[in-house]
Amino acid sequence: MEEALDFPHFLDDDHPLFRFSDGLFHKECLHSHEDGPEFLRLHADYEAAREKEIAEMGEPGPPSAQLLEVLKRLGESQTKES
Ligand SMILES: [Zn+2]
Repeated sequence: MEEALDFPHFLDDDHPLFRFSDGLFHKECLHSHEDGPEFLRLHADYEAAREKEIAEMGEPGPPSAQLLEVLKRLGESQTKES
């Protein structure tokens, strides 16, 4: 059985890696894709920021617009080089 990873809708529609957001992928397939490592890095950043935000709010809620904006800029600066 292949291990599958599913992701929340955490990237904006106009983000270069939006197609991976809100999706379900085999771990192996994602890792072998050229944009896979970049996406996984963004997702890890999202998870870390999310955990911090939830801890500060005291309860889980939808990601704030501020958090999504931070991630969007992060993704843009990291994909410029390619
Ligand atoms: Zn697959």
